[in-house]
Amino acid sequence: MTRRLQIAIDGTAGVGKTTIGQMLAKVLACPYLDTGAMYRAVSLLVLRTGTLPSNVPEMERLAQNLNFEARDATSQEAADGRQYTVLVDGEDVSQAIRDPQVENIVSQVAAIPEVRVALVQKQREMAERAGTIIMIGRDIASVVLPDAELKIFLDASPEVRALRRNRQTGNGEEQARRNLEQRDKLDSQRVASPLVVAPGAIVIDTDNLNPEQVLERVKAEIAKILD
Ligand code: C5P
Repeated sequence: MTRRLQIAIDGTAGVGKTTIGQMLAKVLACPYLDTGAMYRAVSLLVLRTGTLPSNVPEMERLAQNLNFEARDATSQEAADGRQYTVLVDGEDVSQAIRDPQVENIVSQVAAIPEVRVALVQKQREMAERAGTIIMIGRDIASVVLPDAELKIFLDASPEVRALRRNRQTGNGEEQARRNLEQRDKLDSQRVASPLVVAPGAIVIDTDNLNPEQVLERVKAEIAKILD
């Protein structure tokens, strides 16, 4: 593909953005970046260093110095259910960033404007290098890549999302639902880059769609652009 194609996929927690992003990246043979993993990685470092959320300069430093890499999981790595492998300073943190302790603080960490500025800069640099890219998150269409050729917003009811998340983690539907709802609330109500449907975004309600059907919808939108 010679023409640049930036695809922004935003949406609520646990809606299946990563699954769709990965499937689409295979179809288009292009890189994809799950920005949620970057906010999770900073949160992990916050926990490990015992940084207090009130210590904004230190939070900012952790985000600025984040040495983050994501790549396809090897078949051996994929045995633990991960969708891809995340390295921070070369250490495999794919499981650690999914830990409930990280989930409990990630939305608070992501609400700090200084953290967002640092990570958004890294995300834009990655997009610049890649040319064509699929980027997944909450603010991709609204802030990170406002000129993306395609903007998709995925949504589903809390019940369906909790069901899907529990299938991945096995931690129980009730706990999954509570965590998803709490993060949605914090992500939508924060001042810095709240979760919004960006102008021009195509909203897909995935309640009654399986991943293949969502993928078909997205591919149909891409076909329109490339026509
Ligand atoms: O997508 P995921 O659930 O892994 O994201 C974890 C958290 O990271 C979200 O709940 C949100 O607080 C934050 N996030 C964000 N902006 C993004 C991606 C994730 O604020 N672009």
